[in-house]
Amino acid sequence: MIPFDFEYYRPDTIQEATDIFQQLESEGKTPVYYSGGSELISMARVGNLTFRAVIDIKNIPECKVLEYDQENNLILGSALTLSEISESKQFPLLEKTAGRIADHTMQCKITLGGNLASTIIYRETVLPLLLADSRAVVASQDGLREYPISQIFDRRLNLNKGCLLVKIITNKGFIESPYFHIKKTKNEKIDYPLLTTAGLKAGGLLRIAFSGLFSYPFRSVQIENILNDTVSFEERTEKIADIVSGNILSDINGSSEYRKYVLKNTIMNVLETMKDA
Ligand SMILES: Cc1cc2nc3c(=O)[nH]c(=O)nc-3n(C[C@H](O)[C@H](O)[C@H](O)COP(=O)(O)OP(=O)(O)OC[C@H]3O[C@@H](n4cnc5c(N)ncnc54)[C@H](O)[C@@H]3O)c2cc1C
Repeated sequence: MIPFDFEYYRPDTIQEATDIFQQLESEGKTPVYYSGGSELISMARVGNLTFRAVIDIKNIPECKVLEYDQENNLILGSALTLSEISESKQFPLLEKTAGRIADHTMQCKITLGGNLASTIIYRETVLPLLLADSRAVVASQDGLREYPISQIFDRRLNLNKGCLLVKIITNKGFIESPYFHIKKTKNEKIDYPLLTTAGLKAGGLLRIAFSGLFSYPFRSVQIENILNDTVSFEERTEKIADIVSGNILSDINGSSEYRKYVLKNTIMNVLETMKDA
């Protein structure tokens, strides 16, 4: 049970949503955008979060869009659920990533925008977006603005108060690139990542991004430069393990030493399987 009362709003347009947010904020009602609701509800239940109003964005058509535009860009609304994205089969790497987050029942609730904006340290759906140079459309009361995902997602989604993530735009060229996705968990197939490694090959070069390695998801150009070097696979693997060493997460899922071991095996695996891609 949620131990407090709150108001519920379900706007039909982006403008209405940002206006309502502003209005409720000025009334001191600490509003939150509500998408899948899974994090908001679970945090509210245990007393980690309070709000006096939620703004459900699922009625806003732009937040539920799933289509190609005329420039061959895939447009994904932020309120699409992980299962809607997977079932559409439009973005194979994102489909793989989404298909390994929680279980099928939760994937029917959890949304793309909710995962990107959540407080959980993994936020795995950002990996394909960082790799594919996706762009994010964000609404404020002043209108819509488009940003490279790498600009507004640095460790976490950095939105100003009241801003709404509307949709994600990804060029088809990246979507069709050869890719890999390896999620290692402690015990069960369905679990938080010990290490999730995702990547793709674009213009003959490997790109790579991680969740679970540090306390935030990231893509690293420095790691990619080593990955694409011409020295032996073993040397590249050792160099990568060396440069990340100081930041590797240690928690109940695994020590930093164990994560480093998993990382090395994963990098060797990636280099072998992607060498002719
Ligand atoms: C059992 C379980 C297992 C999980 N396992 C994993 C896992 O392995 N890997 C992983 O990455 N995640 C995992 N998660 C987390 C999950 O993927 C989501 O991050 C989370 O539940 C939120 O998604 P939601 O759509 O329900 O968001 P909500 O609860 O609706 O919102 C979450 C936050 O995002 C904000 N928000 C939502 N939409 C927008 C928007 N469009 N613009 C701006 N702000 C917005 C909300 O205000 C809120 O602060 C798991 C969750 C559960 C319950």
